[in-house]
Amino acid sequence: MGGGLAGIRAAIAAAETDPKLRVAMVSKVYPMRSHTVSAEGGCAAVLREPDSFDGHAFDTIKGSDYLADQDVVEVFVREAPLEVIQMEHWGCPWSREPDGRISVRPFGGMTTWRTCFAADKSGFHMLHTVFQTSLQFANIERLDEFFVTSLITEDGRCEGVIGFDMRSGEVRSLAARAVILATGGNGRIYAFTTNGAICTGDGMALAYRAGVPLKDMEFVQFHPTGMPSTGILITEAVRGEGGYLTNAEGERFLERYVPNKMELGPRDIISRAMVTEFEAGRGLKGEYGDYMNLDVRHLGSEVINRKLPFMRELMGEYMGIDIVTDPMPVRPVEHYMMGGIDTDASGRTPMPGLYAAGECANAGINGANRLGSNSLPECLVFGAAAGRAAVHDARGVKAPGSNPIAGLVKDETRRIEADFLGRSSGTERVGEIREDLQKMMDAQVGVFRTGDGLKTAVKELAELRDRFARLKLDDHSRTFNTELVTALELENMLDGAETIIESALARQESRGSHARRDFPDRNDEKYLAHTLAYHTRGAKPRLEYRPVRITQWQPQARSY
Ligand SMILES: Cc1cc2nc3c(=O)[nH]c(=O)nc-3n(C[C@H](O)[C@H](O)[C@H](O)COP(=O)(O)OP(=O)(O)OC[C@H]3O[C@@H](n4cnc5c(N)ncnc54)[C@H](O)[C@@H]3O)c2cc1C
Repeated sequence: MGGGLAGIRAAIAAAETDPKLRVAMVSKVYPMRSHTVSAEGGCAAVLREPDSFDGHAFDTIKGSDYLADQDVVEVFVREAPLEVIQMEHWGCPWSREPDGRISVRPFGGMTTWRTCFAADKSGFHMLHTVFQTSLQFANIERLDEFFVTSLITEDGRCEGVIGFDMRSGEVRSLAARAVILATGGNGRIYAFTTNGAICTGDGMALAYRAGVPLKDMEFVQFHPTGMPSTGILITEAVRGEGGYLTNAEGERFLERYVPNKMELGPRDIISRAMVTEFEAGRGLKGEYGDYMNLDVRHLGSEVINRKLPFMRELMGEYMGIDIVTDPMPVRPVEHYMMGGIDTDASGRTPMPGLYAAGECANAGINGANRLGSNSLPECLVFGAAAGRAAVHDARGVKAPGSNPIAGLVKDETRRIEADFLGRSSGTERVGEIREDLQKMMDAQVGVFRTGDGLKTAVKELAELRDRFARLKLDDHSRTFNTELVTALELENMLDGAETIIESALARQESRGSHARRDFPDRNDEKYLAHTLAYHTRGAKPRLEYRPVRITQWQPQARSY
């Protein structure tokens, strides 16, 4: 389920492992429109000396504020280069050095140059590469524009999915011996986000409601450099290539916060530094509130055109600015969900038959803060692993029977009718509830959090849920009913928001991206542990904690 980088990589791995298998790849949009396509900066992997696996592992673990599971990180850093070379063999047009080797660039929180890239359209080229490769496999069948609404579970096993063909509205099931969720992030829960409109956390919510825990949902990444108006991402590669940030006084203010790394500090720390400067009155003032300047003028047009052409294009088109002659206005923006469906290093969830990979999953490498350029390799490494594990496990499993499934399809058809399409007495509009949810999350669950703010969020979320129960849809048609799709996505967003808020309220410490004003220090004694949020029938999730796995890097103070 999912036609982004993780989903397609998983489909290829499954199809390759057993050419006789039937693999269905389901996506609510045409695969090339998945959010992966908008990734800009690049993909981290240890390609050559002086880099080392231990270097990549340590940077990732320190970046995670020691919440990463170190055994999984060790697997990840060893697999990432193999995946990058595999991409090369499949035709990915990586940017190159004059001698032909794949180029690498510096990235935030990485102690050496290890981010390979395809100019500043890395995600576009990577997604193209796996998509075109997937077309070679006769045993991969695509169901594009198919919206999945629930998982089929029987005796605690996942046996397929139910959803509808968006063209006809027809509800149908896909019975399967294994289901891999690769449904991406849920950034749209926030108003100001870099995420595409489809990033609503559907897979996370489906797994959650089916009883699988969501892990570490309080950790939401804010990227320091979003375009103030639209939230379009200004890639970290801008800073990697030598761009710097200045405040209203023209000062490189990061000297006060990350003196040794400056612009190449990790995202959580730089975002907090920017907000702190805004609060001290040192932000520049604009139509959309405070911002900072991101300056690349000193790089000159040759470097900008070769390495950051897309940034020049975006800033020109959306802000009317030429980055060769003007600094770029930027402000912190919601960007990535560290939390996700609980999996192990092979993509297995606690539910037999169910796997997850990519941004919707949490295999344990990102902890409390992901390092930039670790997500694309994560999609490749764990997408491939999940594909192989699913095939391996499915071998001894009987194909699900059609009897109970036919009943479930009927039930789901009735639910969509009763709760959505057929509801004529409601008063609430999807768009309004969604906007209020997004604004509330921006206000109460942002870069800095407080107990009081989070309690307000709990209260307001309950009100939003009440309003959701009084929903009214105007569009009762079956063909491309975008109002219905948006309503179903909103249901998923409300569940996602609930796990974020409750997990954040319960974690009374500051770690990585989770900065509590009322608990400013990290507390390893109590919270060197993953939060697991379980769905309940009651008002809020049940939270459990699982200790972090440490191999060779003991937690230290995290300074840069
Ligand atoms: C603007 C931007 C720039 C980024 N730049 C970088 C970068 O330079 N380097 C880096 O490492 N990371 C980057 N990231 C993060 C990274 O790109 C993402 O985490 C990653 O691409 C997610 O891939 P995915 O395969 O998990 O999900 P996605 O690419 O989001 O794909 C999700 C898929 O699931 C399908 N789906 C979802 N719900 C349903 C449903 N209900 N029914 C059917 N199908 C469904 C969708 O159709 C889609 O095909 C960036 C992210 C953003 C937003």
